[in-house]
Amino acid sequence: MKRKKPNLKKYHNYILPVFGQDFLLEVKDLGDDDGLTSVIKKTIEIDSKIDNIEDFNQTVIHELGHAIFHRISVNQTAIHDDVKEIIVDSIATTITELFELSLKRQKKKGAK
Ligand SMILES: [Zn+2]
Repeated sequence: MKRKKPNLKKYHNYILPVFGQDFLLEVKDLGDDDGLTSVIKKTIEIDSKIDNIEDFNQTVIHELGHAIFHRISVNQTAIHDDVKEIIVDSIATTITELFELSLKRQKKKGAK
């Protein structure tokens, strides 16, 4: 039996505070990317083609890792981007495997 695809679009326009700075969660078609974080626009974009909650959560946590690295100035160190990818991805995978997660933040005011 095929599992019903969850409605992950409901998380579009959620606010994700990272160390006091709000990042806007956007669920949209990203082509070949699963997720993108912009520390300039303060957005975390997740690909709308993701079709299960575990992959969605893993990707959100991965991207939050990048936002945290920005907020705690890891991006200003000499740590190579490949190493940062390994760190955020392994933390996201471990948390997703161990916990059943759901986003509890609310939508941006005025967003539908
Ligand atoms: Zn990444």
